[in-house]
Amino acid sequence: MEGVEKWYGTFHALKSINLMVRKGEKIVLCGPSGSGKSTLIRCINHLEPFEEGRIVVDGTALDDSSRTIDAVRREVGMVFQSFNLFPHMTVLENCALAPMRVRGTKKAEAESIARKYLERVRIQDQADKYPAQLSGGQQQRVAIARALCMEPKAMLFDEPTSALDPEMVKEVLDTMIGLARDGMTMICVTHEMGFARQVADRVIFMASGEIIEEGEPEVFFRNPAHARTRAFLGEIL
Ligand code: ATP
Ligand code: MG
Repeated sequence: MEGVEKWYGTFHALKSINLMVRKGEKIVLCGPSGSGKSTLIRCINHLEPFEEGRIVVDGTALDDSSRTIDAVRREVGMVFQSFNLFPHMTVLENCALAPMRVRGTKKAEAESIARKYLERVRIQDQADKYPAQLSGGQQQRVAIARALCMEPKAMLFDEPTSALDPEMVKEVLDTMIGLARDGMTMICVTHEMGFARQVADRVIFMASGEIIEEGEPEVFFRNPAHARTRAFLGEIL
């Protein structure tokens, strides 16, 4: 992301965002409510348009054409706070849908891909259930498996554990840690600072639409440079 500016009407939501994420890198993005974290990651797969600057994903520069948007969305998976599974489809059908629709994969193969990733998130035994029959943690793991079924080059997570009951947070974080260990490129909006310490290569702190500070977790948590970062960490740690 290079000089990215984003407005909602007259509200300046992203201010001159410069962010370079390398292949295999794990980024944790944190900051107060309304600071622009969701907006930033949603711009990366063009769920939000942006007005100025450049976003290049794996060599594709995003413009407003469906060609570049589709190209980027094929390679970048996203997991939301609310799992966004299709309620009328089984777990297996939820996972097999995108490979069939987007990649034109045949049903049998799409289902075999789906089973592989359901196993990866340790939920293969729930394949024939409907989302409402699963716990929140299980639904979120299905959402992760569904994204993985597109075999993305990078994954975006927007507060994937914040809608979960506390006892279900760990199973989702463990899934994300596994993904990180396997080398996935990840940008995670989360306030799970234990996760950040464990897997992040860099922690980025945003406030008022700007990147205020970034650093390796060790340095970021021990010795934040900015008063706003210190105040934020004081509140959440
Ligand atoms: P949270 O931690 O609460 O999820 P956030 O850091 O993800 O916050 P964003 O959702 O990116 O923040 O929102 C950044 C700012 O942009 C906020 O002030 C928000 O009110 C505003 N905003 C977000 N979406 C829209 C929209 N669709 N229309 C107008 N303003 C918006
Ligand atoms: Mg948000």
